[in-house]
Amino acid sequence: MYIFKRVSDLQNYLKQKQFEEKKIGFVPTMGALHLGHLTLLNEASLVNDIIVCSIFINPRQFEDTKDLLNYPNPIESDIEKLENLNCTVLFLPDNNEVYPCDHNMLNLDLGKLDKTMEGLHRPGHFKGVVEVVHRLLDIVNPDNLYMGQKDYQQFAIIKHMLKMIQSNVKIIRVPIVREPDGLAMSSRNIRLSIEGRKKASLISTSLLQAKEDANTLNVAAVKENAINFLNTHNIEIDYFEIVDGNTLQTIESFNQSDYVTACTTVRIDGVRLLDNIIIKEIVD
Ligand code: AMP
Repeated sequence: MYIFKRVSDLQNYLKQKQFEEKKIGFVPTMGALHLGHLTLLNEASLVNDIIVCSIFINPRQFEDTKDLLNYPNPIESDIEKLENLNCTVLFLPDNNEVYPCDHNMLNLDLGKLDKTMEGLHRPGHFKGVVEVVHRLLDIVNPDNLYMGQKDYQQFAIIKHMLKMIQSNVKIIRVPIVREPDGLAMSSRNIRLSIEGRKKASLISTSLLQAKEDANTLNVAAVKENAINFLNTHNIEIDYFEIVDGNTLQTIESFNQSDYVTACTTVRIDGVRLLDNIIIKEIVD
Protein backbone atom coordinates (compact mmCIF):
# COMPACT_ATOMS: atom_id res chain seq x y z
CA MET A 1 0.00 0.00 0.00
CA TYR A 2 1.27 3.44 -0.90
CA ILE A 3 0.96 6.18 1.69
CA PHE A 4 0.86 9.73 0.35
CA LYS A 5 0.77 12.78 2.57
CA ARG A 6 1.02 15.36 -0.18
CA VAL A 7 -1.62 16.17 -2.77
CA SER A 8 1.01 16.48 -5.51
CA ASP A 9 2.44 12.98 -4.81
CA LEU A 10 -1.01 11.41 -4.77
CA GLN A 11 -1.98 13.16 -7.98
CA ASN A 12 1.21 12.16 -9.78
CA TYR A 13 0.48 8.55 -8.93
CA LEU A 14 -3.21 8.72 -9.83
CA LYS A 15 -2.61 10.59 -13.12
CA GLN A 16 -0.58 7.64 -14.36
CA LYS A 17 -3.33 5.20 -13.29
CA GLN A 18 -5.99 7.33 -14.97
CA PHE A 19 -3.87 7.39 -18.11
CA GLU A 20 -3.88 3.58 -17.93
CA GLU A 21 -7.69 3.82 -17.69
CA LYS A 22 -7.77 2.23 -14.24
CA LYS A 23 -11.00 2.63 -12.29
CA ILE A 24 -10.57 4.51 -9.04
CA GLY A 25 -12.74 3.95 -5.98
CA PHE A 26 -12.54 6.41 -3.09
CA VAL A 27 -13.39 5.88 0.58
CA PRO A 28 -13.06 9.05 2.69
CA THR A 29 -12.79 8.46 6.45
CA MET A 30 -11.67 10.12 9.65
CA GLY A 31 -9.79 7.02 10.77
CA ALA A 32 -10.25 4.89 13.92
CA LEU A 33 -11.20 2.26 11.39
CA HIS A 34 -13.64 -0.52 12.26
CA LEU A 35 -15.48 -3.16 10.30
CA GLY A 36 -17.94 -0.54 9.02
CA HIS A 37 -15.16 1.35 7.26
CA LEU A 38 -13.52 -1.84 6.08
CA THR A 39 -16.76 -2.94 4.44
CA LEU A 40 -16.70 0.24 2.35
CA LEU A 41 -13.21 -0.73 1.19
CA ASN A 42 -14.32 -4.27 0.41
CA GLU A 43 -17.25 -2.95 -1.59
CA ALA A 44 -14.88 -0.66 -3.49
CA SER A 45 -12.58 -3.55 -4.31
CA LEU A 46 -15.37 -5.29 -6.22
CA VAL A 47 -15.38 -2.93 -9.18
CA ASN A 48 -12.33 -0.68 -8.97
CA ASP A 49 -8.68 -1.26 -9.91
CA ILE A 50 -7.32 1.30 -7.48
CA ILE A 51 -8.77 1.94 -4.03
CA VAL A 52 -7.92 5.18 -2.32
CA CYS A 53 -8.78 5.57 1.34
CA SER A 54 -8.26 8.92 3.02
CA ILE A 55 -7.86 9.52 6.71
CA PHE A 56 -8.35 13.14 7.63
CA ILE A 57 -9.99 14.41 10.80
CA ASN A 58 -11.68 17.42 9.30
CA PRO A 59 -11.74 20.25 11.86
CA ARG A 60 -14.34 22.15 9.81
CA GLN A 61 -17.06 19.63 10.55
CA PHE A 62 -16.65 19.76 14.34
CA GLU A 63 -18.63 22.56 15.91
CA ASP A 64 -17.51 21.32 19.33
CA THR A 65 -13.74 21.62 19.93
CA LYS A 66 -13.89 19.07 22.77
CA ASP A 67 -15.36 16.49 20.37
CA LEU A 68 -12.56 17.23 17.89
CA LEU A 69 -9.85 16.90 20.57
CA ASN A 70 -11.40 13.65 21.85
CA TYR A 71 -11.63 12.10 18.40
CA PRO A 72 -9.57 8.88 18.37
CA ASN A 73 -6.53 8.81 16.10
CA PRO A 74 -4.93 5.34 16.19
CA ILE A 75 -2.99 5.82 12.97
CA GLU A 76 -0.58 2.86 13.35
CA SER A 77 -3.36 0.31 13.80
CA ASP A 78 -5.37 1.95 10.99
CA ILE A 79 -2.43 1.52 8.61
CA GLU A 80 -2.11 -2.12 9.66
CA LYS A 81 -5.82 -2.73 9.00
CA LEU A 82 -5.62 -1.12 5.57
CA GLU A 83 -2.52 -3.10 4.67
CA ASN A 84 -4.43 -6.31 5.37
CA LEU A 85 -7.12 -5.27 2.93
CA ASN A 86 -7.12 -4.45 -0.75
CA CYS A 87 -6.41 -0.78 -0.15
CA THR A 88 -4.03 0.52 -2.83
CA VAL A 89 -3.40 4.00 -1.50
CA LEU A 90 -3.78 5.68 1.86
CA PHE A 91 -4.03 9.45 1.57
CA LEU A 92 -2.99 10.99 4.85
CA PRO A 93 -2.92 14.75 4.37
CA ASP A 94 -2.50 17.43 7.00
CA ASN A 95 -4.68 20.50 7.26
CA ASN A 96 -2.47 22.63 4.99
CA GLU A 97 -2.68 20.08 2.18
CA VAL A 98 -6.46 19.92 2.35
CA TYR A 99 -6.97 23.64 2.91
CA PRO A 100 -4.04 25.54 1.38
CA CYS A 101 -4.07 29.34 1.77
CA ASP A 102 -5.46 29.79 -1.74
CA HIS A 103 -8.33 27.36 -1.10
CA ASN A 104 -11.67 28.96 -1.88
CA MET A 105 -14.49 28.11 0.50
CA LEU A 106 -17.24 26.24 -1.28
CA ASN A 107 -20.57 27.99 -1.11
CA LEU A 108 -23.23 25.53 -2.04
CA ASP A 109 -26.89 25.91 -1.22
CA LEU A 110 -27.96 22.74 0.57
CA GLY A 111 -31.58 23.88 0.58
CA LYS A 112 -33.50 22.29 3.41
CA LEU A 113 -31.25 19.22 3.55
CA ASP A 114 -29.08 20.49 6.37
CA LYS A 115 -31.88 22.26 8.24
CA THR A 116 -33.22 19.06 9.74
CA MET A 117 -32.14 16.23 12.07
CA GLU A 118 -28.32 16.36 12.56
CA GLY A 119 -28.28 19.82 10.99
CA LEU A 120 -30.40 21.21 13.83
CA HIS A 121 -28.16 19.70 16.49
CA ARG A 122 -24.85 20.42 14.80
CA PRO A 123 -25.09 23.76 13.01
CA GLY A 124 -22.35 24.16 10.41
CA HIS A 125 -21.48 20.44 10.49
CA PHE A 126 -22.71 19.59 7.00
CA LYS A 127 -21.17 22.70 5.50
CA GLY A 128 -17.85 21.32 6.79
CA VAL A 129 -18.59 17.83 5.47
CA VAL A 130 -19.52 19.10 2.02
CA GLU A 131 -16.44 21.31 1.97
CA VAL A 132 -14.04 18.48 2.75
CA VAL A 133 -15.66 15.84 0.50
CA HIS A 134 -15.75 18.34 -2.38
CA ARG A 135 -12.09 19.16 -1.87
CA LEU A 136 -11.07 15.49 -1.54
CA LEU A 137 -12.99 14.60 -4.70
CA ASP A 138 -11.22 17.41 -6.46
CA ILE A 139 -7.89 15.95 -5.38
CA VAL A 140 -8.62 12.25 -6.01
CA ASN A 141 -10.93 12.55 -9.01
CA PRO A 142 -12.38 9.05 -8.52
CA ASP A 143 -14.91 7.14 -10.60
CA ASN A 144 -16.76 5.84 -7.57
CA LEU A 145 -17.29 7.26 -4.09
CA TYR A 146 -18.25 4.95 -1.21
CA MET A 147 -20.22 6.27 1.74
CA GLY A 148 -21.97 4.50 4.58
CA GLN A 149 -25.72 4.44 5.09
CA LYS A 150 -24.81 4.79 8.78
CA ASP A 151 -24.54 8.56 8.28
CA TYR A 152 -27.70 8.73 6.27
CA GLN A 153 -28.10 12.50 6.15
CA GLN A 154 -24.46 12.90 5.16
CA PHE A 155 -24.94 10.42 2.31
CA ALA A 156 -28.07 12.23 1.06
CA ILE A 157 -26.32 15.61 1.24
CA ILE A 158 -23.23 14.44 -0.64
CA LYS A 159 -25.48 12.83 -3.27
CA HIS A 160 -27.24 16.20 -3.61
CA MET A 161 -23.89 18.00 -3.85
CA LEU A 162 -22.73 15.73 -6.69
CA LYS A 163 -25.94 16.50 -8.54
CA MET A 164 -25.60 20.25 -7.96
CA ILE A 165 -22.04 20.37 -9.28
CA GLN A 166 -22.94 17.99 -12.14
CA SER A 167 -20.21 15.60 -11.10
CA ASN A 168 -19.62 12.33 -12.95
CA VAL A 169 -18.61 10.61 -9.73
CA LYS A 170 -20.94 7.75 -8.86
CA ILE A 171 -21.89 7.55 -5.19
CA ILE A 172 -22.47 4.12 -3.68
CA ARG A 173 -24.42 3.73 -0.43
CA VAL A 174 -22.97 0.90 1.67
CA PRO A 175 -25.32 -0.78 4.20
CA ILE A 176 -24.78 -0.30 7.93
CA VAL A 177 -22.43 -2.79 9.55
CA ARG A 178 -23.69 -3.76 12.99
CA GLU A 179 -22.43 -5.51 16.12
CA PRO A 180 -24.05 -8.91 16.73
CA ASP A 181 -26.64 -7.28 19.04
CA GLY A 182 -27.62 -4.75 16.38
CA LEU A 183 -25.67 -1.65 17.47
CA ALA A 184 -24.34 0.19 14.43
CA MET A 185 -20.55 0.16 14.50
CA SER A 186 -19.06 3.54 15.29
CA SER A 187 -15.76 4.95 16.51
CA ARG A 188 -17.75 6.47 19.37
CA ASN A 189 -19.04 3.15 20.78
CA ILE A 190 -15.89 2.63 22.86
CA ARG A 191 -16.90 5.64 24.95
CA LEU A 192 -19.96 3.77 26.29
CA SER A 193 -20.05 2.27 29.80
CA ILE A 194 -20.91 -1.44 30.12
CA GLU A 195 -24.47 -0.50 31.06
CA GLY A 196 -24.70 2.08 28.26
CA ARG A 197 -23.35 -0.38 25.72
CA LYS A 198 -26.15 -2.84 26.64
CA LYS A 199 -28.79 -0.12 26.31
CA ALA A 200 -27.38 0.96 22.96
CA SER A 201 -28.57 -2.23 21.28
CA LEU A 202 -32.13 -0.97 21.78
CA ILE A 203 -31.64 1.74 19.17
CA SER A 204 -31.71 -0.79 16.36
CA THR A 205 -34.59 -2.63 18.08
CA SER A 206 -36.64 0.60 17.88
CA LEU A 207 -35.81 0.98 14.18
CA LEU A 208 -36.61 -2.63 13.29
CA GLN A 209 -39.90 -2.27 15.15
CA ALA A 210 -40.63 0.96 13.24
CA LYS A 211 -40.08 -0.84 9.94
CA GLU A 212 -42.45 -3.58 10.98
CA ASP A 213 -45.04 -1.13 12.36
CA ALA A 214 -44.97 0.72 9.04
CA ASN A 215 -46.81 -2.24 7.48
CA THR A 216 -49.89 -1.57 9.58
CA LEU A 217 -49.67 1.83 11.30
CA ASN A 218 -49.55 5.41 10.05
CA VAL A 219 -46.42 7.57 10.25
CA ALA A 220 -47.42 9.36 13.47
CA ALA A 221 -48.17 6.07 15.27
CA VAL A 222 -44.93 4.45 14.08
CA LYS A 223 -42.97 7.41 15.36
CA GLU A 224 -44.87 7.51 18.66
CA ASN A 225 -44.24 3.80 19.30
CA ALA A 226 -40.52 4.20 18.66
CA ILE A 227 -40.22 7.26 20.89
CA ASN A 228 -42.21 5.56 23.67
CA PHE A 229 -40.01 2.49 23.43
CA LEU A 230 -36.80 4.53 23.75
CA ASN A 231 -38.30 6.65 26.55
CA THR A 232 -39.34 3.54 28.47
CA HIS A 233 -35.72 2.47 28.50
CA ASN A 234 -34.59 5.94 29.63
CA ILE A 235 -32.77 6.63 26.40
CA GLU A 236 -32.43 10.34 25.69
CA ILE A 237 -33.62 11.11 22.16
CA ASP A 238 -32.26 13.99 20.09
CA TYR A 239 -34.70 13.14 17.32
CA PHE A 240 -36.55 10.25 15.76
CA GLU A 241 -37.84 11.22 12.31
CA ILE A 242 -39.44 9.45 9.41
CA VAL A 243 -38.33 11.25 6.27
CA ASP A 244 -38.26 11.14 2.51
CA GLY A 245 -34.93 9.51 1.67
CA ASN A 246 -33.96 12.20 -0.84
CA THR A 247 -35.34 15.45 0.54
CA LEU A 248 -34.89 14.46 4.21
CA GLN A 249 -38.17 16.23 4.98
CA THR A 250 -40.61 14.54 7.35
CA ILE A 251 -43.50 12.79 5.70
CA GLU A 252 -47.04 12.56 6.99
CA SER A 253 -48.12 9.45 5.11
CA PHE A 254 -46.23 6.44 3.79
CA ASN A 255 -47.97 6.98 0.43
CA GLN A 256 -46.23 10.34 0.12
CA SER A 257 -42.88 8.84 -0.93
CA ASP A 258 -41.37 5.75 -2.55
CA TYR A 259 -38.21 6.17 -0.51
CA VAL A 260 -38.69 6.41 3.23
CA THR A 261 -36.09 6.28 5.98
CA ALA A 262 -36.42 6.41 9.75
CA CYS A 263 -33.48 8.25 11.29
CA THR A 264 -32.64 8.70 14.93
CA THR A 265 -29.93 10.04 17.17
CA VAL A 266 -29.93 9.31 20.86
CA ARG A 267 -27.57 10.06 23.72
CA ILE A 268 -26.27 7.35 26.00
CA ASP A 269 -23.59 8.18 28.59
CA GLY A 270 -23.41 11.57 26.85
CA VAL A 271 -22.36 9.88 23.59
CA ARG A 272 -24.45 10.74 20.52
CA LEU A 273 -25.33 7.58 18.61
CA LEU A 274 -26.79 7.75 15.10
CA ASP A 275 -28.75 5.04 13.39
CA ASN A 276 -31.38 4.63 10.70
CA ILE A 277 -33.36 2.10 8.73
CA ILE A 278 -34.73 2.25 5.22
CA ILE A 279 -38.44 1.56 5.56
CA LYS A 280 -39.25 1.63 1.89
CA GLU A 281 -37.23 2.03 -1.29
CA ILE A 282 -38.89 1.43 -4.61
CA VAL A 283 -36.24 1.37 -7.29
CA ASP A 284 -37.40 1.65 -10.88
P1 AMP B 1 -16.13 8.43 9.47
O1 AMP B 1 -14.74 7.95 9.61
O2 AMP B 1 -16.95 8.30 10.71
O3 AMP B 1 -16.21 9.79 8.83
O4 AMP B 1 -16.82 7.44 8.44
C1 AMP B 1 -16.30 7.21 7.17
C2 AMP B 1 -17.30 6.46 6.35
O5 AMP B 1 -17.59 5.20 6.95
C3 AMP B 1 -18.65 7.20 6.22
O6 AMP B 1 -19.12 7.10 4.89
C4 AMP B 1 -19.53 6.44 7.20
O7 AMP B 1 -20.90 6.51 6.89
C5 AMP B 1 -18.99 5.03 7.05
N1 AMP B 1 -19.35 4.22 8.21
C6 AMP B 1 -19.10 4.49 9.51
N2 AMP B 1 -19.64 3.54 10.29
C7 AMP B 1 -20.23 2.64 9.49
C8 AMP B 1 -20.95 1.43 9.70
N3 AMP B 1 -21.19 0.95 10.91
N4 AMP B 1 -21.42 0.77 8.61
C9 AMP B 1 -21.20 1.26 7.35
N5 AMP B 1 -20.52 2.38 7.10
C10 AMP B 1 -20.04 3.07 8.14
